[in-house]
Amino acid sequence: QESIVIIGAGQAGAQVAQSLRQGGFAGAIHLLGDEPHPPYQRPPLSKKFLSGETDAEGLWLRPAAFYETQGIGLRTGVQATAIDRTGKTVVLSSGEELAYSKLIIATGTRARSVPLPGSNLPGVLSLRSIADVDHIRKALSAHSRLAVIGAGYIGLEVAAVARAMGKAVTVIEAQDRVLKRVVSPVISAFYEGLHREHGVDLRLNAGVAGIEGGAAVTGVRLADGSHVEADLVLIAVGAMPNTELAAAAGLDVDGGILVDASGRTSDPDVYACGDCTRFRSARYGRDVRLESVQNAIDQAKAVAQAILGQPVDYDPLPWFWSDQYHVKLQIAGLSEGYDQAITVGEPAEAKFYVAYLKDGRLIAVDSINAPRSHMMARRTIGEAWREDLLPPA
Ligand code: FAD
Repeated sequence: QESIVIIGAGQAGAQVAQSLRQGGFAGAIHLLGDEPHPPYQRPPLSKKFLSGETDAEGLWLRPAAFYETQGIGLRTGVQATAIDRTGKTVVLSSGEELAYSKLIIATGTRARSVPLPGSNLPGVLSLRSIADVDHIRKALSAHSRLAVIGAGYIGLEVAAVARAMGKAVTVIEAQDRVLKRVVSPVISAFYEGLHREHGVDLRLNAGVAGIEGGAAVTGVRLADGSHVEADLVLIAVGAMPNTELAAAAGLDVDGGILVDASGRTSDPDVYACGDCTRFRSARYGRDVRLESVQNAIDQAKAVAQAILGQPVDYDPLPWFWSDQYHVKLQIAGLSEGYDQAITVGEPAEAKFYVAYLKDGRLIAVDSINAPRSHMMARRTIGEAWREDLLPPA
């Protein structure tokens, strides 16, 4: 009998299992996760789960019973420790071996660590999982001063929640603007104003020399010698793909597990999907590694299609969102390489969008509190730009 083993029970792993069943796959499906929870969505971790508006069960992608009724062998709290591609088995932390006819790697990412003096002190935290947030919430309830290193999405979302809890928050960013890797200066400036209005002490162009403290954190020493007082430090400087297992098995890995447009790795019986993969985007003319729910779901569907014998060419229009305070940012497309950026609407009213063009074509739209503009952008990106700039909606 055919047997599919999926390593990683996150957004992508759960989706590929579900899509295989929906598509009529009748063999065994083993879905292996090293966390103690059934597959769950991560976006609320730094938003409503951190603030306490949602509990852990509210994050689950499906009720636990779903996997049983679908005949998906979900196993939590178990790690895959090795892949034997010759024998076509996966070795588990329990010592068992599972045979596969097709293997899918969906191991996601982990928070990037930084080799800073003091980064091992208690009170230095990172955020990737339910367990991390449980830890952060407990620490936040006992302390009042948070320093966030890194003004990316996760750092800024946590800053917003911590401010709503009344904590003193300093955000330390090495670059000259927030969210620099993903948005244009107009959007960065909007978020800098938003956080400062909400009382965040935002330090730009600020390198970190080390984290200070003894039994507990007392603050962060900046490269210019100044000191930021804090009793908790969140390191939020990005994520690293979990590729070690794939690399140890001899699969091609280069800043992500390399896959083709069907999600196939360098071994035709091994696929990969989600945050851990890197693939060629014809749309962008380069390799991309995306960290988004959109990619986890759509690439997982493409892998299921390929295994079911109906391959598709996966070349997505990436989209993403972020919630901070009462502001929703939605991103459609990657804005890199734009030669014109048009702001429509009023940043001061927190309802606007920025349309990015390259050679007269719309390549991306970042919208602020304008969900209909975002949906329209997803439909029209790639088309020649028209002059009728609709108000943000
Ligand atoms: P994951 O969901 O990370 O799942 C991988 C799973 O595999 C994990 O449970 C991991 O523990 C497990 N695993 C790894 N190695 C092994 C092994 N050897 N054996 C067994 N199990 C293993 N995206 C958005 O689009 N919008 C957002 O607003 C947004 N906000 C986010 C906020 C936070 C705090 C975080 C952390 C992420 C956010 N993301 C957001 C990104 C999004 O959650 C990810 O892109 C998505 O979860 C990727 O799915 P995945 O299945 O590839 O990886």
